[in-house]
Amino acid sequence: MIVAKTIAECRHARSTLGKLAFVPTMGALHAGHESLMHLAKAHAPATATSIFVNPTQFGPNEDFTRYPRPIDADLQICQRQGVDLVFMPEAAEVYRPDLPETVIDFPSLTGVLDGLHRPGHFRGVCQVVAKLFNIVQPNVAIFGQKDFQQLQILSAMVFALDFPIKIVAAPTVREADGLAMSSRNRYLSPADRERGLSISRGLFKAVEAHRTGQKDARTLIAIVTAELVAQSLQIDYVAVVDQRTLQSVNDVGRPSVIAVAARVGSTRLIDNVRLG
Ligand code: AMP
Repeated sequence: MIVAKTIAECRHARSTLGKLAFVPTMGALHAGHESLMHLAKAHAPATATSIFVNPTQFGPNEDFTRYPRPIDADLQICQRQGVDLVFMPEAAEVYRPDLPETVIDFPSLTGVLDGLHRPGHFRGVCQVVAKLFNIVQPNVAIFGQKDFQQLQILSAMVFALDFPIKIVAAPTVREADGLAMSSRNRYLSPADRERGLSISRGLFKAVEAHRTGQKDARTLIAIVTAELVAQSLQIDYVAVVDQRTLQSVNDVGRPSVIAVAARVGSTRLIDNVRLG
């Protein structure tokens, strides 16, 4: 496994690899990330992962400084998964002070859901992923359905800006009790974790209601909201949106997603499931 810490090292290592599947991450790796690495292997003979806590996608009052950075454990996981190249750049090289301000944006997709509640977040995501794509030059990139808005935005970016990269969506990996795996779960106390379970419980109830004929988005939203309110979660949104356009839908006729963002104490959790 090659660990590249500079852009030059990464470019050189990449030039020694053929068809490459890439899994960008912020580290604090868990079984969800591992499933993406595993899927990457099915798409190309060589795989790369980046570990970079990207400052430009965090708001001023968000958890950038306290975001977990267990580097040694992360590298062990990459090794175990047979990753060929790990790119771990320094922020000072990725964001050199002489660079002009860079904005890549898709307002119809970034102005809703998490984009409304985390202004600038997806600009930061697009900026760093575009840079990572140009540095790592993968043929395939894997992203989790757990961050489905990010997945749709990055799919749009590749399409709109003609990156020669195939985007692959990976299903959400959950704990046995349903909680979607997240690097942020390690912030949760046992009591808060229990309260956070209301998110997946509510989503699963909505899926079941939809499966048995409930197509009214407001009713499905109410089912999820009731679970969150019962645990006194602070809700950013519960929404039913078109899977591709991310616009709200009233009747769930076409492929849609029901998505949640809510705070348990100071920890913000997101989750979603497909309807239909
Ligand atoms: P992050 O390190 O949180 O930026 O996530 C890196 C990648 O892992 C993104 O494509 C996420 O969507 C994906 N990911 C995070 N959590 C999960 C999960 N529980 N299941 C599947 N993919 C995930």
